Amino acid sequence: MVKVNTKYIFVTGGVVSSLGKGIISASIGKLLQARGYKVTIQKFDPYINIDPGTLNPYEHGECYVTADGMETDLDLGHYERFTGIETTRDNSITTGRIYKTVIDRERHGDYLGKTIQVVPHITDEIKRRMLREGLGEDLDFVITEVGGTIGDIESAPFMEAIRQLRWELGRNAVCVHLTYVPYLKAADELKTKPTQHSVKELQSMGIQPDILVLRTERHLDDSLRLKVASFCNVDLECVVQSEDMPSIYEVPVNMQKQGLDAAIMRKIGIPVGETPAMRPWHEFLEKQRNATRIVPIALVGKYDLQDAYKSIRESLNLAGIYKDVKTELHFINSEDITADNIAEKLSGMAGVVICPGFGKRGTEGKIVAAEYTRTHDIPTFGICLGMQIMVIEFARNVLGYKDANSSELDEKTPHNVIDMMEEQKNITEMGGTMRLGAYECKLVEGSRVAEAYRPTPSPSYNGEQGDGPIVSERHRHRYEFNNKYMKEYEAAGMKCVGINPVANLVEVVEIPEKRWYIGTQFHPEYSSTVLHPHPLFMSFIDAARSAERES
Ligand code: GLN
Repeated sequence: MVKVNTKYIFVTGGVVSSLGKGIISASIGKLLQARGYKVTIQKFDPYINIDPGTLNPYEHGECYVTADGMETDLDLGHYERFTGIETTRDNSITTGRIYKTVIDRERHGDYLGKTIQVVPHITDEIKRRMLREGLGEDLDFVITEVGGTIGDIESAPFMEAIRQLRWELGRNAVCVHLTYVPYLKAADELKTKPTQHSVKELQSMGIQPDILVLRTERHLDDSLRLKVASFCNVDLECVVQSEDMPSIYEVPVNMQKQGLDAAIMRKIGIPVGETPAMRPWHEFLEKQRNATRIVPIALVGKYDLQDAYKSIRESLNLAGIYKDVKTELHFINSEDITADNIAEKLSGMAGVVICPGFGKRGTEGKIVAAEYTRTHDIPTFGICLGMQIMVIEFARNVLGYKDANSSELDEKTPHNVIDMMEEQKNITEMGGTMRLGAYECKLVEGSRVAEAYRPTPSPSYNGEQGDGPIVSERHRHRYEFNNKYMKEYEAAGMKCVGINPVANLVEVVEIPEKRWYIGTQFHPEYSSTVLHPHPLFMSFIDAARSAERES
């Protein structure tokens, strides 16, 4: 490996959205990392929200949380799952954040009487962040993905910043443009015109793409690639196709086969050297191909949208692969659940995940589901709100507090078994004010969770302290288990087996006499990666797999 000064790769998209720019950016990161380079991947989104934390999941899917407590775009989840790098608050930037920095600076008088304009003030701030100035990192590559589609009014300042950087950085910058090549059935033809237009649009903004990644549902032959290359002023070896793959995790390998990483290196002027074997990745893919036995898992949630629980879906999928099964996920809308239909809705399910969420809608259905799985001993994983639901259900049906609730869902409940955290009570601003990011949690020796973390080396396991493991997991919540009730729960069989050692907050509950009935206040799904699937998801899948075998 040749040591390099930091190089910058910009990834833009054209024609339509949802082409999988995040997967391509993550794949480039993976491939360069496999060559021994230190890489980070960042996302610039053109919307005005300061961060996606206040967005409804129907807008942009799940909100991913970094270890340092930033609410970010879900693409950061792909970056972390593919590369195992830990992203930070500097890896997810929005137009809103850029403007806020500039406007705050203006109010502070830092611009010495100048007129503040999109060019150069906004674009300079974008450039500063794209270059990750002042972060004191020692990176070989910074990959910057820009959200949205070329031609959007919103992304114009980002494009101008890339144009300028490209000019200033010379060969130290590379532009990768992702487009779509549609297949027209009636004509039986693949069409390159949208790609040509998209590249023209990019050129009109002063950016010549170095590399084109063509998304396609059909294989593109060389003559078609040659046509694109010659119409778009791009070398043939720099026109790469990204066909639909059976799994997104096949994409890096497919990109490597076509030499995407090598093309990037050649553009920059770094000797390409040998193609890395990526053995652990290939072993994972092999396992994925061989995992055919199906284990059906229900996701009980309220957002009927693939992307809303992205990290949970991927974590279950990855854990399944490592346990040699194919997890088949069934979304069950908790708003449709009643005591009368729950048996039918969960019939055939080997395990149930009760999903995170905010607000009252759909929570009574989740409580019905938690009661059903507890009383029928179906392996159940409650995550964040899901854990709180388990706690509420237990209070109502085991402790006998029929009116028990979370004060989020019923402000006046006399039995607030889940209550607002003290530190949250005086907060009035919505954005970025929850308990966010990674906190340590001490697990109780002998509990199922403690055992789950031990055999698998996982990034969130911080070793042993005294008589139990310490783990570090990410959070995103305002409410917590009300410790006033702890003794009653423990006496009735629901144990508090994970505690934050500093704040004394309950982080994990479990019912040891059940097969697998565990709720976590934290979100383990944010720290599950391809090469390090999360131990709790592995343990859950194990339980679901054996429960299925018995029934
Ligand atoms: N709404 C709950 C809280 O704020 C749970 C949040 C979540 O599931 N992420 O505590």
